Amino acid sequence: MSTDVKLLIDNQFVASRTQEWRDIVNPATQDVLARVPFATADEVDNAIAAAQRAFATWRHTPVAARMRLMLRFQALVRANIPRLAAILTAEQGKTLADAEGDIVRGLEVVEHACSVGTLQMGEFVENVASGVDTYTLRQPLGVCAGICPFNFPAMIPLWMFPMAIVCGNTFVLKPSEQDPMTAMALAELAIEAGFPEGVLNIVHGGKDVVDALCTHPRIQAISFVGSTAVGTHVYNLGSQHGKRVQSMMGAKNHAVVLPDANKAHALDALVGAGFGAAGQRCMATSVAVLVGEARQWLPDIVERARRLKVNAGTEPGTDVGPVISKAAKARILGLIESGTTEGATLELDGRDVQVPGYAQGNFVGPTVFSGVKADMQIYTQEIFGPVLLVMQADTLDEAIAIVNANPFGNGVGIFTQSGAAARKFQSEIDVGQVGINIPIPVPVPFFSFTGSRGSKLGDLGPYGKQAVQFYTQTKTVTARWFDDATTSEVNTTINLK
Ligand code: NAD
Repeated sequence: MSTDVKLLIDNQFVASRTQEWRDIVNPATQDVLARVPFATADEVDNAIAAAQRAFATWRHTPVAARMRLMLRFQALVRANIPRLAAILTAEQGKTLADAEGDIVRGLEVVEHACSVGTLQMGEFVENVASGVDTYTLRQPLGVCAGICPFNFPAMIPLWMFPMAIVCGNTFVLKPSEQDPMTAMALAELAIEAGFPEGVLNIVHGGKDVVDALCTHPRIQAISFVGSTAVGTHVYNLGSQHGKRVQSMMGAKNHAVVLPDANKAHALDALVGAGFGAAGQRCMATSVAVLVGEARQWLPDIVERARRLKVNAGTEPGTDVGPVISKAAKARILGLIESGTTEGATLELDGRDVQVPGYAQGNFVGPTVFSGVKADMQIYTQEIFGPVLLVMQADTLDEAIAIVNANPFGNGVGIFTQSGAAARKFQSEIDVGQVGINIPIPVPVPFFSFTGSRGSKLGDLGPYGKQAVQFYTQTKTVTARWFDDATTSEVNTTINLK
């Protein structure tokens, strides 16, 4: 039986009064798990007002108390990983192992938030003029908002609210309307950990709610993760309304394979990063560029992809789960069709994959194209499904030029045993995250997630030091103190003379 997802306002899970609802559907079975409300304008206002009230006291809460709250929260999330993973797989479709990875990558950000004390330190210079000191304070901004995509329902919310809150801000989170239940389960744990009333609030919805957050005068900063089209809209609208905005957006990640690479490792990495999570990772490898003699490895890639097991995320041994929705499946199939009509060679066709016991699931089997040209739709668009494009280059320079000409700049990998080639690549490639013999180079949380060109708008990225800078503003104090006792002593001395 399905239930209604609640809003979270002032630590109360409240039923929405909206007339607009959307079903949350299990992508493997089509079972309706719950209904999610599209919050009304008043409900969004209420959530922001709760966050604004909470900010008055939360901003003054000692940093050690804020860190201890995160310590309690991380312990609760860790203790609940299997339960959270089951919710995540049910609503998102990825395998249980992937779901645990989704949670653990987010949990690592919470762990890092537990040490924000040293990250939030300001600077101090004594005697910038005679008897004058200058120092900086890193102060919280106020109410911050987070807008999330569907593909990492635990990790992305955990990129956002723990760092914002531990820096002294309060938060309004908008999970993806396609899979908001994981975020609600995290919120229950946050309250159990002791998050004070109004510090974390959650609203649900789509464009109207997003636009309300981007324009509301009380919101100071917006963290967005999602597609390039929506992220650009959020960046422009939020910026026009005076907010800090970080938009982490779409991707077309390449893997450049040189002929001196460790072949087995490179092929395993390509196939895992290309088809894992059904290709619905922002760091998925979607284009393999085989350089020189490595172009002969195409049949091996196809063979490895063919062996992957497509099934529900709950079934043991599954490599590729369903994609998020019937609409996503239709879009992916449409792009595969366009690839064939535009002249690419379909080396492996996953369109008609059959999954016994899950006839209604949104499955697309691993699909491989070769002969891909840069002007084909399969190349110019983010497919966000289990489709790997294979291109060829004669030299490393040519491969670098291919990657740098693509509009996206999220992640990239190079596979080689040549340090010199890897070093040239890392220097010349215009992409935010570079992996050297690493297919999905997502930085650990004491670094920051980066991105360039069509994959990112805004300066500072999520988590790590950049997130601390994003969620705080610098105040510079210049101070001179007059010591009356010293002054009178000096005067006395003068008088005696
Ligand atoms: P999406 O852009 O469709 O949705 C993201 C959020 O925007 C959702 O909360 C949604 O409700 C909202 N939204 C949707 N349409 C809107 C509109 N017209 N106006 C205002 N708000 C709107 O993204 P998605 O399909 O949920 O997620 C997949 C995308 O996210 C992919 O492009 C993927 O590459 C990207 N992504 C990027 C990163 C990164 O760090 N760069 C990480 C994860 C996902």
